[in-house]
Amino acid sequence: MKGSSILEINLEAIRDNTAKVVEICHQQDIAVLGVTKGFTAIHQIVAAMVEGGVDGLADSRMENILKLRRRGFNKPITLLRIPRLSNVKNVVRYADVSVNSEVAVMQALSRAALEMGKVHKVILMLDVGDLREGVMKGNILNTVRQIIDFHGIQLIGLGTNMGCFGGILPSNDNLGFLVEVKNFLDAYLGYDLEVISGGGTSTLALVEQRRLPAGINQLRVGEGILLGTDTTNSRKIPWLRHDAFLLRAEVIEVKAKPSVPIGEIGRDAFGNIPEFQDQGMRNRAILALGKQDVYVEGIIPTDEHMKILGASSDHLIVDVTDCLRNIRVGDEISFCLNYAGLLSACDSKYVKKRFKGG
Ligand SMILES: *Cc1c(COP(=O)(O)O)cnc(C)c1O
Repeated sequence: MKGSSILEINLEAIRDNTAKVVEICHQQDIAVLGVTKGFTAIHQIVAAMVEGGVDGLADSRMENILKLRRRGFNKPITLLRIPRLSNVKNVVRYADVSVNSEVAVMQALSRAALEMGKVHKVILMLDVGDLREGVMKGNILNTVRQIIDFHGIQLIGLGTNMGCFGGILPSNDNLGFLVEVKNFLDAYLGYDLEVISGGGTSTLALVEQRRLPAGINQLRVGEGILLGTDTTNSRKIPWLRHDAFLLRAEVIEVKAKPSVPIGEIGRDAFGNIPEFQDQGMRNRAILALGKQDVYVEGIIPTDEHMKILGASSDHLIVDVTDCLRNIRVGDEISFCLNYAGLLSACDSKYVKKRFKGG
């Protein structure tokens, strides 16, 4: 449909970034799972990750995993969010591996797998301090003891997640702990755990510096491949591309207006009381893009002279006074996105997707 905003997706950039991440990881015997949840598993992007050489795919949502299976992707797929007790049958049916921390869920997975005559692979998540999902240190052996009797599931490895809730950075200490537990459990179980999954994009910093503890042999990478950024370590990854996604929206009004509203101030459309600084008259552009289209806090104008002043459901207000070019009605303004912005734009039915470099 003409008139809607466009998310331009450069598949070549995704392929290049994937290939670079895969190369540096494979040099150190680390497998790479391409994480597809940041873009609702749009199949063209997944295909670019596969062409870039990922060893497997991973997503946190069963809806996305089903979509991948229907599209015929036959790489192993890992479910990245603890399965819902009420959805274990689908997990066994469509995912090869799931991450787990709850005995009751693993018991249910076991029953579902036995019913279907399948073996479902399980990665036990350990909480090394970020305090999102995972078994705490003191409970690991107790948990393993309970799940080894469950037929139909096979404990194939250990994993951890960092930088998501507590903002904890991957380190030699917390990842080394994962390897220590593996060594202990190998002896206890009488077989070798084959996967030690050491986090996502934020662990790439240790890989670059060749400081990742030996034994970590899998990473689950989303943000780095997609955006070339590492939010947890607040950095742009210098050896990755940052041009895979661009959001474009159209200007529908340009006028000089005072920087402070005129009249008594109540609440804005979302119930907040806005505050303004008087900067005199400013040139303001309104774009046909709003909170209903994307997560506005997650987009950044590519023109550094522009400033987003605010947004309502359907309008984005941008100060264009300092722009070097004259902004006019009908012009297209482009934006970079962060992870939250990307997720919202991919998920938005109001944002049209356009591919290049396919
Ligand atoms: C989202 C997610 C990832 C990917 O993280 P990035 O920072 O995007 O690389 C990895 N593991 C789990 C468990 C996740 O939920």
